[in-house]
Amino acid sequence: MRAIVTCECCGHRQAVERPIRRPESFHLICHDCEGVLLVEVTVADLRAARSAAQSRSARAGGVGSPA
Ligand SMILES: [Zn+2]
Repeated sequence: MRAIVTCECCGHRQAVERPIRRPESFHLICHDCEGVLLVEVTVADLRAARSAAQSRSARAGGVGSPA
C-alpha cells in the first residue's frame, strides 16, 4: 500500500510504498530533517487502501470493454 507520512518536526510530507498486509508500525527517516518518524498502519488504513485499489482496477477494466 501507499501512505503519505507527514513529519512532526518539519512538516515534510513523503510518500511511502511498501507491502503491508496487516496492521503494523515501522520507523521512517524524514528525508528533510532526518528525524525518526513512527508510522502506524491500522486495519482502517489497510481497508481504505484496498478499496482504493479495487476502485482503480474497476475503472481501468471498464474503459474500452463492451457493455
Ligand atoms: Zn522532518
